[in-house]
Amino acid sequence: MENLALKTKKRLLGTLCIYSWFAIPKALLMAGVLSMEKKQKSEKNNVFDMLVREERIFKNREALASTYIPPEFPHRDNEINDVANILKPALYGARPSNILIYGQTGTGKTAVAKFICNQIVSKAKTEGKKIHTAYINCKQTNTPYGILTNIGKTYSKDWEDKVPNAGWRIDKVYSVLKEKADENGGIAIVILDEIDTLVSKSGDDILYHLTGLNSDLNNSKISLIGISNDTRFTSWLDPRVKSRMGEESLTFAPYNALQIENILVQRAKMAFHEGAVDPLVLSYCSSRAALEHGDARKALDLLRISAEIAEREGQEIVTVKYVSKAENVMEHDLVRSLISTLPLQPKVTLASIILNRGSKENGQQTTGEVYNTYRLICKRFNVEQLTQRRVGHIISELDMQGLINAKVVSLGRQGRTRYISLAIEQNQVDNALDNDAFLSRVIKEIKMSGYLSSIQLRLI
Ligand code: ADP
Ligand code: MG
Repeated sequence: MENLALKTKKRLLGTLCIYSWFAIPKALLMAGVLSMEKKQKSEKNNVFDMLVREERIFKNREALASTYIPPEFPHRDNEINDVANILKPALYGARPSNILIYGQTGTGKTAVAKFICNQIVSKAKTEGKKIHTAYINCKQTNTPYGILTNIGKTYSKDWEDKVPNAGWRIDKVYSVLKEKADENGGIAIVILDEIDTLVSKSGDDILYHLTGLNSDLNNSKISLIGISNDTRFTSWLDPRVKSRMGEESLTFAPYNALQIENILVQRAKMAFHEGAVDPLVLSYCSSRAALEHGDARKALDLLRISAEIAEREGQEIVTVKYVSKAENVMEHDLVRSLISTLPLQPKVTLASIILNRGSKENGQQTTGEVYNTYRLICKRFNVEQLTQRRVGHIISELDMQGLINAKVVSLGRQGRTRYISLAIEQNQVDNALDNDAFLSRVIKEIKMSGYLSSIQLRLI
C-alpha cells in the first residue's frame, strides 16, 4: 500500500512537473508578449528613453572632451602670465614678439595658447582694437598653401570666394594675403601647433616667409606662436628662421601627480554629478598619468573612459575598479592600432610568431623557427623574402615596441640564440586580428593549410 501511495505521489508530481514545464514558460511568454505589445503601443517608447534617463554620472560630458578649454588652468599661472605679457603690445597696436612654446604632450600647451588667444580677442573687443587669431594644427595642415589659406580666412570673410583651395602659384596666394591683411588692418596672432611636423614635411621656407611678412605690410602686423613637443626642432631650422621664430621661448614642464590631481578635481566638478566619482579614482588616474611624463590628457582620458564604462554597466558611482577596466581598454586600443600600422615585413614576422608553437620551454621559439614560418608566409602570399639577419632586426624592433619578448640565450659553444614569445595576451591578439584583414587572413590560411604542423614536426 505504502509503495502504491508513493508511486501515485511520484506520478502526480511527475505530471505536475511536465505540466509546469510547458505551462509556466507559456504563461510567462504570453505575459511578455502582452507587455511588449503594450510598450510598443505607448507613444513615448523610444530606444533612447532608458539611455537618456540613465545619465546618472555625467552632468556635462563636454568638460572632458579633448577640445574643451577650461576657464582656469591650475599650475599654469606663470606660463599664462608670461605669454600674456608677450602678447600685450597687440592691445596697443604694436606687434608682439613671436613665441616658441615647448613641452611634452599633455602639458597644456595647446589649451593654454587657445585660452590666451580667446582672452585677448575678447579684451580687444571691449577696448575697440582689431586683433585676429588663427589656430592651425600643422599635423593636419602642413603645406604652405594650406597655412596661407588659413591665415587669409582670419583676415577676410570673402577669402574663399577670391582664392581657390588649391591650384594657384604660392606667391600669388602670398600677395593676396598681404593685400587682405593691409585692407583689414589690425594684428593677427597665428598659432602654429605641432610646428615640428610642418618643418619636417614642408621645410622651413614657409616660416621664413611668414616671419618676413611684417616688413611687407603697411597697415597690419602678424605674430606667430609656434608649439612643439620636440625641443630639438629648432636645430633643423635655418639660423635666420630660428632667431626670428624664437624671439621669445618658454617651456611647459611636466605635471607631477598632485598637480594632475588638482586638474582632475577641477574638471570632475564640471563634468560629473556630485558624489558620482569616488575621490580615490582621481588620485589613481593622476598617479598613472604622472608615471607617463605628467600627461594631463592621459589622466583626463582615463577618467572619462572609466566613467563611460561605469555608466554603461548601469553604475551610479565610478570606482577604482573602473579605472583598471579603462586602462585595459586603452591598452587594447593601443596594441590594436600599433599592430594595424605595422609595415608589411614586421607584420609578416609577427604573424609567424603568433602562428608558431615554439619548441622551447613555455612555447618559446628560436629565430630559426620564426624564420621558417616567415618564409612560408612570404611564399604563399607573394611577399618579398628578407634574409634571416634582417628578420632578426625586425624581431628586435617588435621587442622594443613591447609586442614580443626576445630573450638572448647562450648555447655554450654553439653561440647564442634568442628565445621569442608573444608579450601580448591572446585576447589582445584576437582583438588585433579582428581589426586587420591581412593579418587575420594570413593566420587563418596558414593554420588551415596544415603546413605549419609539418614544419614544426620536422623541427622537433
Ligand atoms: P599639449 O598641447 O601640451 O599636448 P593640451 O593643451 O592638449 O596639451 O592639454 C591636454 C589636456 O589637459 C587638455 O584637455 C587640457 O585642457 C588639459 N589641461 C592641461 N593642463 C591643464 C591645466 N593646467 N588645467 C586644466 N586643464 C589642463
Ligand atoms: Mg597640443
